[in-house]
Amino acid sequence: MQFIDLQAQLAHIRPAIDARIAKVLDHGKFIMGPEVFELEKKLAEYVGIKHCISCANGTDALQLSLMALDIGPGDTVITTAFSFFSTAEVIPLVGATPYFVDIIPSTYNICPEALQAGIHNARKQGLKPKAVIAVDMFGLPANYPEIQAICDKEGLYLIEDAAQGFGGSINGQNAGSFGDIATTSFFPAKPLGCYGDGGAIFTDSDELATLCESLRVHGKGEHKYQNMRIGLNSRLDTIQAAILLEKLGHFPQELIQRQKAATHYSTELAAVFVTPAIPEGYQSSWAQYTVTPKKGKRDNWMSSLKKAGIPTAVYYPIGLNKQVALQHYPSDPTPITERLCEQVFSLPMHGYLDHQQVDNIINIINATNPI
Ligand SMILES: *Cc1c(COP(=O)(O)O)cnc(C)c1O
Repeated sequence: MQFIDLQAQLAHIRPAIDARIAKVLDHGKFIMGPEVFELEKKLAEYVGIKHCISCANGTDALQLSLMALDIGPGDTVITTAFSFFSTAEVIPLVGATPYFVDIIPSTYNICPEALQAGIHNARKQGLKPKAVIAVDMFGLPANYPEIQAICDKEGLYLIEDAAQGFGGSINGQNAGSFGDIATTSFFPAKPLGCYGDGGAIFTDSDELATLCESLRVHGKGEHKYQNMRIGLNSRLDTIQAAILLEKLGHFPQELIQRQKAATHYSTELAAVFVTPAIPEGYQSSWAQYTVTPKKGKRDNWMSSLKKAGIPTAVYYPIGLNKQVALQHYPSDPTPITERLCEQVFSLPMHGYLDHQQVDNIINIINATNPI
């Protein structure tokens, strides 16, 4: 039993992947080959947005977005205390100040009321909020209707970090299409992953798209040896684009399989765990299936399950505002993040988990008594 079984997926698609890689080896356009542009077109269509700009990874996608929005020294970016490090790391990387706020315990996503309070508190401290980064934690889109209304009222840009959320939606609007600009990651373990690093930016703005296209290739202008601004070297490899083109075709079916597994877990485990809450009209991509035990310590649950052959993982053990590298930045109190960092853990989840495997995990959990 694997936590995220990439080999099960590969076994299913291997001949097609081999053929796609062979085609890239044959044409030899390893940098910005035709597969990169074909993928960008298909991803934009999938999300339902005007522009997709691929790049080297999900962290660069966030950094490029901040650079395109001209966020830098003197600016503050408000974000959640509960996420992967990248979400906040990119803010000081462009010279801005991160400001952390708390989450909603049932969804693990940034709390709109806490965001509103955080904007006021940051201003009271003399900070100048310019943007918000909201995260689609564990695959569930954040509450964008409310977050967008707050950003509009307060005059802030909104960035959607959909590194985990790609494949999710709110009332039929897909993750990757919220805010001014959205980002995702194709790290192998993400819902849509490649066989290395990869990422993408999504936007409806022609201006932001043009800036991102320039910034990902050293701030290029009309041609390769004309440079308009300081940028990054952050292109998506053609081989990774070819792999993603194949995987995108299988992605809808994998999402259905993830949803089946999640529904099965949630139906059978509600007595022992607080299971993820999916608000009406929302669809998660189920990047992770994360629970809070109703009784027993997390460590005891995890070691009992490990002995029974069920791998688990903790996302995340430390809040961003408690990380050594970030703890000196301003933050509101984040009691919910602190509690969940001590309590949550995640069960196996991927697009090739079958009913029998989930049943087996459920039976083992229900037979476990983690003192
Ligand atoms: C994985 C992840 C990232 C970064 O993606 P990489 O491709 O690994 O750089 C950013 N934000 C969140 C929420 C993530 O889960």
